[in-house]
Amino acid sequence: MGLRSASEFKEGLRDGREVYYRGEKVDDVTTHHDLGIGVEHVALDFELAEDQEHRDLMTWMDLSGGERVSRYFKIPTDTSDLLNRREMIEQSTRLGGSVVLLIKEIGTDALFALDVVTGHLDKHAGGQYNPRVKAFLEQCKKKDLSLAVAQTDVKGDRSLLPSQQDHPDYYVRIVEERTDGIVVRGAKAHTTCAPYVDELIVLPTRAVKEEDSAYAVSFAVPVNAPGLKLIASPFGSPPVSEFHHPVSSAHRMIDTLTIFDDVFIPNERVFLKGEWQYAGPLANTFVEFHRFTAASYKPPLCDLFIGAAALLAEYNGIAKASHVREKITKLITYTETVRGLTLAAAHDCRINDNGTAVPNIILTNLAKFHFANNYHQAVSWVQDIAGGLVVTGPSEEDMENPETKGYIEKYLGGGGGVSAKNRLKAINLVRDLTASTFGGYNELLAIHAEGSLETQKITILRDYDVDRCLKLAKEAIGVE
Ligand SMILES: Cc1cc2nc3c(=O)[nH]c(=O)nc-3n(C[C@H](O)[C@H](O)[C@H](O)COP(=O)(O)OP(=O)(O)OC[C@H]3O[C@@H](n4cnc5c(N)ncnc54)[C@H](O)[C@@H]3O)c2cc1C
Repeated sequence: MGLRSASEFKEGLRDGREVYYRGEKVDDVTTHHDLGIGVEHVALDFELAEDQEHRDLMTWMDLSGGERVSRYFKIPTDTSDLLNRREMIEQSTRLGGSVVLLIKEIGTDALFALDVVTGHLDKHAGGQYNPRVKAFLEQCKKKDLSLAVAQTDVKGDRSLLPSQQDHPDYYVRIVEERTDGIVVRGAKAHTTCAPYVDELIVLPTRAVKEEDSAYAVSFAVPVNAPGLKLIASPFGSPPVSEFHHPVSSAHRMIDTLTIFDDVFIPNERVFLKGEWQYAGPLANTFVEFHRFTAASYKPPLCDLFIGAAALLAEYNGIAKASHVREKITKLITYTETVRGLTLAAAHDCRINDNGTAVPNIILTNLAKFHFANNYHQAVSWVQDIAGGLVVTGPSEEDMENPETKGYIEKYLGGGGGVSAKNRLKAINLVRDLTASTFGGYNELLAIHAEGSLETQKITILRDYDVDRCLKLAKEAIGVE
């Protein structure tokens, strides 16, 4: 088949999946008043693949299968593959109103990691997982499947290992081994896009010890599998209108608490089953790819910050003020540092022993860390330029009411003859991006998604060649 249309993708979601939203079971995610926004948003992935202007970027002629397929499924083997992937993620996010689509990006990050790690496992520990991973990737490619990744376990007490917890199900685990597969139980949190993808890929969150080998488990599962239940987060829902929420009324991500209530996984879909030594490497290799995806989808939102700040500087008549120019310069510096580090990570990639190109780990983590660590500061620069109306402005209904309309038009205009309506539209953009529930979501996403700040610091310190610098210091003082 190769490529699916957006309507074929939506049809595939009507498969009896068990999704809950605000206390009710959802009949059809595609027509649901809130989840449907997520569906329409991600359908863009399929539309872009059909669109002449974006087809070459978003798709690829797979010579092994002899058909055109989504480029996300191409395992990167060199810098140009990584640059293409980065560009594809940045472009589709920009066209998605600055919100990443994430229905193939994260899933392929997981598959690339599984390919690398199961390759090692099979070679050194006598497994037979790598052919299964490769077969599943082929299936995704041929059927043009959409994927979410459930890695983050609910975790209970963070200071304890899985088997030391109050109950044994704080981390997803194998509860039964059968000749034809395994049965898994537990829950994962924050599974982005899960209600409206075809498949979930499950990975371990962390390294575990031998006594935790039941928790060293990875597999792929269709979202409508019996026993799989999704409780969707209603955070920020539903947006009021396009006027009040110019971005989030059409573009958003929806995340779930993902319950595995004794779900059967057939052998051919099991990618790790108790080999505890490989849980940590799998979790880490996934983020090596996934933080590159993360740093690739961040710049469109930052660009929108720069644009909104520049527009409101103009509308507020302060564009020439030195502090405003300085804040816009800092926003540009912030954005281009993230973009530049990601480009550099692709150029300075490492070719793994299985031929996969892995983006430079330190540069990738620096890009993600720089974005997350400075995000709230960047928000404050935009909010400073925009002014207090971001949270005190009148509503769309008052703009339309003949009794109040005239006052709003008279009093809320700005510099350069801008109308009150256009100025409020720009102000509402800043509200939606930074001071709404969607804005709050973005702040949490910046801090936690793709791993919280400490995880990037740990990786940077672990991978940096500190010994080289130590040697230089010793040389400088003449010590052996
Ligand atoms: C918007 C969004 C989307 C996401 N999408 C996905 C997704 O699609 N798939 C997925 O699998 N995950 C996803 N995540 C999960 C994300 O990776 C986690 O939120 C992140 O790893 C932090 O985990 P946590 O939320 O459990 O917080 P915690 O791990 O509880 O972190 C809270 C604080 O505790 C600290 N901490 C945690 N453990 C320890 C410890 N042992 N010792 C000392 N300090 C500790 C952390 O550093 C942090 O400061 C998403 C998260 C967000 C916010």
